[in-house]
Amino acid sequence: MTAFAARIERVEPSATLAISSVAKELRAEGADVVDLSVGEPDFPTPAPIVEAGIAAMRDGHTGYTAPRGIPSLREAIATELATDGLAYDPDQIIVTPGGKQALYEVFQTVVDDGDEVVLLDPAWVSYEAMAKLAGGTLRRVDLTTSNFKLEPALDELTTAISDETRLLVVNTPSNPTGMVYTDDALAAVRDLAVDHDVTVISDEIYKRITYGRTPASLATLDGMADRTITVNGFSKTYAMTGWRLGYLAGPTDIIDQAAKLQSHSVSCATNFVQHAGVAALTDVDDEVDEMVTAFEDRRDHLIDRLEDAGAHVPAVPDGAFYLMVPVVGDDLETCETAIQEAHVATTPGSAFGAPGYARLSYANSTDRIDEALDRLFDLEYFRRD
Ligand code: PMP
Ligand code: GLU
Repeated sequence: MTAFAARIERVEPSATLAISSVAKELRAEGADVVDLSVGEPDFPTPAPIVEAGIAAMRDGHTGYTAPRGIPSLREAIATELATDGLAYDPDQIIVTPGGKQALYEVFQTVVDDGDEVVLLDPAWVSYEAMAKLAGGTLRRVDLTTSNFKLEPALDELTTAISDETRLLVVNTPSNPTGMVYTDDALAAVRDLAVDHDVTVISDEIYKRITYGRTPASLATLDGMADRTITVNGFSKTYAMTGWRLGYLAGPTDIIDQAAKLQSHSVSCATNFVQHAGVAALTDVDDEVDEMVTAFEDRRDHLIDRLEDAGAHVPAVPDGAFYLMVPVVGDDLETCETAIQEAHVATTPGSAFGAPGYARLSYANSTDRIDEALDRLFDLEYFRRD
């Protein structure tokens, strides 16, 4: 038997990607599968981005770039972040192949064996895995009892955070709940982070996909700039999941350390993709607004139908394109039945630290959402009030 490193034995494959792969396999066998599992916009990448990528390839931008990314993209990112009140110099930014790699680099840079990492559950599946890969131990604050809102759970957060805490991950709008945390809640997070000298990841990948309320950026709060790493990416906002482009921005000392990891692992983000990223930030706006409007319409439609059917909806999402709902029975089994028998792919809440729930991604057309709901209602999938 081959012996494997303990760190890799500690983690499972990404549940979101695994379910989506099952959906793809069933589809390849001819099944009519509705995929509400993976968080992937169903829109094509806006044309100006595609054109810029092709032009960059034709212009010969096909070699390695500097590990931290091309200057024009880091400048465009700094300008974009400034619109949110975030003052980052281009030297404080590392462009990565996807936001996931940015997060991975932060965990590897900050978390040591035995260090405590605090997550707000339900939390996106890969934070737990990244913490474990870095040797960290987890403290999880359960937001299911407060219908995913952070403010009512601040006592629990206060208990969870101590001088032992190395890293806190805040993701708002949240995957999988879609919650936008209030300014007051984020101010309380700030107080705890400053009091206990905690480093914070602010994962803002859904920041442009909101329906009325936009969250504050944690690094703009007093005392947070030198302890916050802001992570973002192009996958969701610009429908660029397969291009793999994201970034981290943070205090110079952390960025300098993370840059070592980047240079020894992926070297750099793909050259021509970085050029396409400049076009995304400078030439694309209306297309994003159109996608966000479509997501909002789908959210409303999905919730109307669920409520009409008496299904329990704990909270209306303020952003992203996910809805967390309680399901009947064991969530792993219920989601397995849904994919195998009804050919509807959904993600079990257990993957996010929320057993008994499931996540529906509504980055899909209203017709397909309707089709999925019809099949799931037949299965008695949703828990009622
Ligand atoms: N953070 C969150 C909360 C996400 O949902 C995702 C989705 N994949 C990512 C980061 C990373 O996305 P990507 O690597 O495609 O930029
Ligand atoms: N973040 C998306 C999701 O949660 C994409 C898949 C992944 O990277 O986990 O579905």
